[in-house]
Amino acid sequence: MAIKISEIAEVIKKNIEQYGSKIIQSEQGTVGTVGDGVAVVFGMDKVVMNELVLFSNDIYGIVMNLELGSVGIAVLGDSKDIKQGDPVKRTGQVIQVAVGDELLGRVVNGMGIPIDGKGDIKSKKHYPVERVAPGVMSRKSVDQPMETGILSIDAIVPIGKGQRELIIGDRQTGKTAIAIDAIINQKGKKVKCVYVAIGQKESTVAQIVERLTSLGCMSYTVVVSACSSEPAPIQYISPYAGVAIAEYWMENGEDVLIVYDDLSKHAVAYRELSLLLRRSPGREAYPGDVFYLHSRLLERAARVNQQYGGGSITALPIVETQAGDISAYIPTNVISITDGQIFLTESLFNSGIRPALDTGLSVSRVGSTAQIRAVKQKSGSLKLELAQYYELAAFSKFGSDLDENTKSILENGKRIVELLKQKQYTPINQITMSIILYAIQLKVTKWLPHELMGNFKEALLNHFNNDGTAQSLLKQLTLEKSYTEELDKLIKKEIIIVLKKEIMKISGYKPEQYGSIEEYKKL
Ligand code: ATP
Ligand code: MG
Repeated sequence: MAIKISEIAEVIKKNIEQYGSKIIQSEQGTVGTVGDGVAVVFGMDKVVMNELVLFSNDIYGIVMNLELGSVGIAVLGDSKDIKQGDPVKRTGQVIQVAVGDELLGRVVNGMGIPIDGKGDIKSKKHYPVERVAPGVMSRKSVDQPMETGILSIDAIVPIGKGQRELIIGDRQTGKTAIAIDAIINQKGKKVKCVYVAIGQKESTVAQIVERLTSLGCMSYTVVVSACSSEPAPIQYISPYAGVAIAEYWMENGEDVLIVYDDLSKHAVAYRELSLLLRRSPGREAYPGDVFYLHSRLLERAARVNQQYGGGSITALPIVETQAGDISAYIPTNVISITDGQIFLTESLFNSGIRPALDTGLSVSRVGSTAQIRAVKQKSGSLKLELAQYYELAAFSKFGSDLDENTKSILENGKRIVELLKQKQYTPINQITMSIILYAIQLKVTKWLPHELMGNFKEALLNHFNNDGTAQSLLKQLTLEKSYTEELDKLIKKEIIIVLKKEIMKISGYKPEQYGSIEEYKKL
């Protein structure tokens, strides 16, 4: 995209002609060079940053660079349709998207234009894509749970409404699966969802939309899709368009869950755009303001107080790592902007532990205040027990002579890992989770071989959903949301009943394999 000498000469000539006279500012300019989604336009000295301009052929562009004598414009369309010398008009507007309930159930592109063939979006309200994040005084603390329905996440790294929790991991480790499960779990919970796909394959997004439709989740969801085939400028603005849609609901007192899938591809799109605009490259060739790119986006997630509408935006940004390296540029940036991360590892995923949550490196810095009491009571030592297990499991591979204490930690850990496994699209509610966590806490699962944990979990859930006594206990627990001393005893009894039933199914069962006979008799 070389700038021709003749063009420079023309600009200089114009400047000489106008020397001394009042500067003439014009509403219209001419395309100097164009290519790869970026145009350099001369003679538009009145435009402002981020203004929307109109090329011939009805193609829009956004002003990204203001330079002496020229402006750099990101073309929101096919730049092949624009030619050198074409006129460019100002619109006097910044880029906006339609917002409101009319968007529910729709699939829109990165600029908020519908692409699902269901006609125009008849919304009267429009919000600018770039907006200032809520200030300190308009925010409220995070104290309500944003349930994902995934046991390991809600128990170990709980998320609160208004929080930003990063989902990070290598490719194909179940990142999208977690975000989609979280959206599915909002069914009937009065939470609106926005799924922003940036640089994804169109087929992947189509599958997600299909899945959400078949599960009846599109009625409260909007999909913003800027796939990999879209030009970089459209990929770049898509998450801002998504959050603008979410902000409308937040300001009207509603809770919103927004997923950015994923911000690594967003950063790559921005890098491409910046390099084409001839901005100087920095670390890993990203421009210097790539931190601001994501911080201004993620700061727009908040829980605001009543005066500002009283709603919330919970953000689940996704970042892809290379070979598990969370200390690379974009991962560290986004980790520092968010309130915690869910770290997924390939080794766990491949060994069948799904969700492949790395409990050591995953944290939630604010969510635990939002956890319901029942779950909090029953998940207290879970993270520690898992940490001990993983540490010992690594060591025990080398030695065969293990003392009793080490053996029991290993056996207990194996069972916890099995109980935390969860299939895709099967969210569970918090109260049911607390029962599974209680069984873990009681350590009674040691009486069963760890391969049977899946069956035990299923039997446990069946029992509490179908058996009369257990059902009424579950109901009571749902009302109280916490384990009283009495509930504690009664629920324990029911868990033991299920355990014994499962033991009965094993032929030739020998309790001494798992513990002492006296202990077994006390069950
Ligand atoms: P990409 O890097 O390609 O975006 P990703 O990290 O988003 O991948 P997913 O697409 O969510 O990963 O999942 C990868 C595969 O693993 C999918 O085929 C998905 O169905 C499967 N998968 C994810 N989570 C689970 C789970 N809990 N149980 C079983 N299979 C799962
Ligand atoms: Mg994915």
